[in-house]
Amino acid sequence: MEERTLVILGATGSIGTQTLDVLRKTSGIRLVGISFHRNVELAKRIVEEFQVENVAVTGDVRVESDFAKKIWKGHDSIGEMLESLKPDITMVAVSGFSGLRAVLFSIRYSRRVCLANKESLVCGGFLVRRSLKKTNTELIPVDSEHNAIFQILESDVQKIILTASGGALRDWNVEDMESATPEDVLKHPVWKMGARITVDSATMVNKTFEVLEAMELFDLPFEKVDVKIHREGLVHGVVILPDGNVKIVISPPDMRIPISYSLFYPKRANLETFAVEEISTLSFEDPDPRKYPVLSLLPRIKDSYALRTVFNAADEVAVNAFLKGKIRFGGIYRVIEKTLEEFTSFSEPKNLEEIEQIHEEAQKTAGRVTEWLSSISF
Ligand code: NDP
Ligand code: MG
Repeated sequence: MEERTLVILGATGSIGTQTLDVLRKTSGIRLVGISFHRNVELAKRIVEEFQVENVAVTGDVRVESDFAKKIWKGHDSIGEMLESLKPDITMVAVSGFSGLRAVLFSIRYSRRVCLANKESLVCGGFLVRRSLKKTNTELIPVDSEHNAIFQILESDVQKIILTASGGALRDWNVEDMESATPEDVLKHPVWKMGARITVDSATMVNKTFEVLEAMELFDLPFEKVDVKIHREGLVHGVVILPDGNVKIVISPPDMRIPISYSLFYPKRANLETFAVEEISTLSFEDPDPRKYPVLSLLPRIKDSYALRTVFNAADEVAVNAFLKGKIRFGGIYRVIEKTLEEFTSFSEPKNLEEIEQIHEEAQKTAGRVTEWLSSISF
């Protein structure tokens, strides 16, 4: 097989480093460029191990001029590097809102985009879709649930089910959840991930994002996307078909599997195979709305990219405040709800700049709400 070129955006993160691990175990893909934000030391090690010649530095950090053959810096560094490299594949594994700009550049300059970042679809799904149509670039979802659904989707589905672990507090009672500490919340029962997404699992902000992500990726109406708690962490996607058939994707909870699928599709990588004897029970329950109140915000935000962007920004601010001990776990939902409430007069964004404006404004509003909440000791 001909060797293909790959750029990893956010190579120093959880998805980024697991993508590197897939490269260590497989052949046929050559890493030609990476981006990182602040982790200079890890980026240096990656450059050395994989002989990476091109590096985009998005954060405000110093790097030596001999760090890599070619270094791009600043706000547009990712776009400039991709324009110069035009890779076969770009893995978009940056975190947060910055993923939107990154994915739009990736679609413009690559043949295939492997998309892990979910904030991009939540805030700017219409831009991502528009850009895909214009370019014929292929987009393969990396988020495990969407990667699973992608593998089994048919044109005529009755429903898809996104499975949720329920997060670290799934067995806590509602009253105790209010004051759970960052330490409690960061113990995810199934997946090992970055800090924000682990907190987002416990609140189910993550699953809220994933419902929107699925609507964008598979062009499904809200009514056809369901969420169930699946404790075993083995089923990643379920497709219910109108003739009584149900298709399910099962694999161990290891992000390297969806990552490798997105890189090698339609072929499969040779990793470890799964022993079916490990399956004893598979359970699916409806999430308790008292434990996961954010799910109830979905109908309010689903059709508005402005409110979806506000939702994301408010959660980002609230999660940071929670991790720093400024607000309680229960405060995360309050910040999101109150910030959405304060956003009364807005118009729907038509382009990236307008989404970025809403994001910044919402961060400020959420910051004020967070201060207020912490001052009344929530
Ligand atoms: P991490 O926090 O582990 O990594 C984030 C990466 O993005 C790092 O390389 C970081 O650089 C870089 N980065 C941080 N801020 C910025 C910025 N403002 N601009 C550009 N780059 C930045 O996150 P994860 O790997 O956990 O998640 C990445 C994305 O994938 C998220 O959108 C997440 O929701 C999604 N995802 C993650 C899953 C997981 O299992 N982890 C599963 C499904 C989806 P540095 O470290 O050098 O500062
Ligand atoms: Mg997921």
